[in-house]
Amino acid sequence: MLRQVAEGVLVHESEFCQSNAVVVQGRAGVLLIDPGVQDHEMACLANDLSDLGQTVAAGFSTHPDWDHLLWHPRLGAAPRYGTARCAATVRDQLSDPGAKAEITAHLAPTGIADQVPLDLYGLITALPAETAQIPWDGTQVRIIEHQAHAPGHAALFIEERGVLVAGDMLSDVLVPMLDLDDTADPIEDYLAALRLLEGVAGDVDVLVPGHGSVGGADQVHARIVRDRAYVLALREGHVPSDPRVGPSAKPGWEWVSDVHNGQAQRLARRSERDGTPG
Ligand SMILES: [Zn+2]
Repeated sequence: MLRQVAEGVLVHESEFCQSNAVVVQGRAGVLLIDPGVQDHEMACLANDLSDLGQTVAAGFSTHPDWDHLLWHPRLGAAPRYGTARCAATVRDQLSDPGAKAEITAHLAPTGIADQVPLDLYGLITALPAETAQIPWDGTQVRIIEHQAHAPGHAALFIEERGVLVAGDMLSDVLVPMLDLDDTADPIEDYLAALRLLEGVAGDVDVLVPGHGSVGGADQVHARIVRDRAYVLALREGHVPSDPRVGPSAKPGWEWVSDVHNGQAQRLARRSERDGTPG
């Protein structure tokens, strides 16, 4: 079911990890950001759009993680964009002929592996590096690219509507998940990304994270502060007092503590190895 969160901006929530697909109404069709996860959910979204008399004019993937790279045939054949670094990372992934089988295997414990359609997976058109806005016939959608959660990760700021689509940042259920594979200083990268988002925070009325609850204006600053505190605690090797970790985690999200422990351990090994924090 599509839910309006601002004028001309609607959200479709997937069951898996409370993933949010975002629809922005344009002059000739909609922009669809991170369409969702399971086959029936994306089919439901396609139905909702056709009920509204809308077609998809353009797609966008906020970053090159599997749950943001899916597509459904009923969503049509519009160009699907990503940042240049996002698209290059996906191309790299898909150059491995076993990539899709690996995703299916990775999904086995979730029980939804056979519900995740991979035929149209990752067919992303690279936007030229430094592209400032999504090229489409609709309201301005500013691309705020940063190196934090994944290579070429982009938040989108729909300025006229006061909506920030945060990708896998600023979630109320997921802690910041650092990109520990691709960058020299993942902690500093993450802090820099939060500063970038902070730069627009004052103009944001509605915050849509890739996973979790849609937040109002009051949530934007609060989530930035909480994510920064979490990342700083990681850097210092402290146990963060964070409601998303430990016994205060929301039911169904207990596994976030494992994510936290995993990245804390990897960071500790990293700093032991090269004597630098992070
Ligand atoms: Zn995600």
